[in-house]
Amino acid sequence: MELYSGHINKLIEELAGLPGIGSKSAQRLAFYLINMPQTRVERLAKAIVDAKANVRYCKECYTLTDQDMCPVCSNVNRDHRTIMVVENARDLAAYEKTGKYEGVYHVLHGAISPMLGIGPNDIRLKELMQRLEGDVNEVIIATNSSLEGETTAMYISKLIKPTGIRVTRIASGVPVGGDLEYIDEVTLLRALEGRVEL
Ligand code: ZN
Repeated sequence: MELYSGHINKLIEELAGLPGIGSKSAQRLAFYLINMPQTRVERLAKAIVDAKANVRYCKECYTLTDQDMCPVCSNVNRDHRTIMVVENARDLAAYEKTGKYEGVYHVLHGAISPMLGIGPNDIRLKELMQRLEGDVNEVIIATNSSLEGETTAMYISKLIKPTGIRVTRIASGVPVGGDLEYIDEVTLLRALEGRVEL
């Protein structure tokens, strides 16, 4: 015997497929959604569909944006010769919030993880190397201080070294295993200012 209606089961199944949502949370969310006013449910559904239809990768830095190029890349006042490499768009947002970084970014969308089977070709590394064929002064590697983040930083620095472009790594004042987005702005700025040559 089915415990819930077919539609509820389908909804729970879809929600449980999202990252960080176990079957218990999926059930809780499903019942919450069912009890929400119709207009709110429709707003939520529309927001998901609209975001999916309109959000794309910036053709320069690969962050998520509504335009061909994100606001940072299309800003002529930014220093386009300094590229900060981050793991995801949330890390970019964390540095943007400090309001003190004047360069541009490159979003990898992940980090190298031999354990999870994520290799250099699974992140936007090729795209970074292509950008470096242009006029670039410095690459600041701001991947997380997790094992994956460090592995990625080492890999990238080895790739870039032969090009003669300056490669730096943000200071390790960032707690080990800490996700950049959870670190306060002062710590982020200190990490940036205290960056070291690789
Ligand atoms: Zn961009």
